[in-house]
Amino acid sequence: MTDGTSGTALGDRAWPEVEGRPTLLVPVGSVEQHGPHLPLDTDARVAAAVAARAAVLGGAPAGITQSGGAVGSGALLVAPPVGYGASGEHEGFPGTVSIGHEALRLLLVELGRSAARWAGRVLFVNGHGGNVPTLVDAVGLLRYEGRDAAWLACAPGGDAHAGRTETSLMLALDPACVRPEWAAGNTASLGDLLPAMRAGGVAAVSANGVLGDPSGASPDEGERLLAAMAAELVAAHARWTPDTSGRLR
Ligand SMILES: [Zn+2]
Repeated sequence: MTDGTSGTALGDRAWPEVEGRPTLLVPVGSVEQHGPHLPLDTDARVAAAVAARAAVLGGAPAGITQSGGAVGSGALLVAPPVGYGASGEHEGFPGTVSIGHEALRLLLVELGRSAARWAGRVLFVNGHGGNVPTLVDAVGLLRYEGRDAAWLACAPGGDAHAGRTETSLMLALDPACVRPEWAAGNTASLGDLLPAMRAGGVAAVSANGVLGDPSGASPDEGERLLAAMAAELVAAHARWTPDTSGRLR
């Protein structure tokens, strides 16, 4: 493996190579429209990339560069991402597949219960804002049951959806997947758009699905945002102070 994440992906390891009580990072994404220019799985890709970079930065004990080494307490391992999320607000666009709050909640709870048998901590790394109420519920239950779970948002700021921020992130991760059809969508603030969105989803306020304006997006900006989010994750993991909603900051 030469991608710089060797040794941190749970799926690459054999069971004797999972020792001690590592922290399991679980990227959580969505399959939802991201404008005419970004792939449907943008949120999962971003969450997985942030988790993978954080694991390399902050968690892998020295000497683990290939399969064969064991990981231990304090190490960060990255689970295969949860690719589906709660995306009802995007269902006006083809390609969107939402499993909704209840199914996602059960999935996260059962995943957390199972992983907590060997993982010291379970940290959901969320790439989609619409998953937040579900994460609060699922993590709340896991914590109530005595499992050390938390969640963290990949929230670099910027515009709301498929605008400059997410376009920059995808240009950094995989420029070939960014179509040239960039166009501004509705650039009003989310607060102003919410009433119309609650009634008719994103399609009611943006014909192309974009909330924001991709112009000015660049791979350099995306790289900076990814590095900042990964560093934030490492620092938040080191502090490990989940707030009342189970969120790490
Ligand atoms: Zn997104």
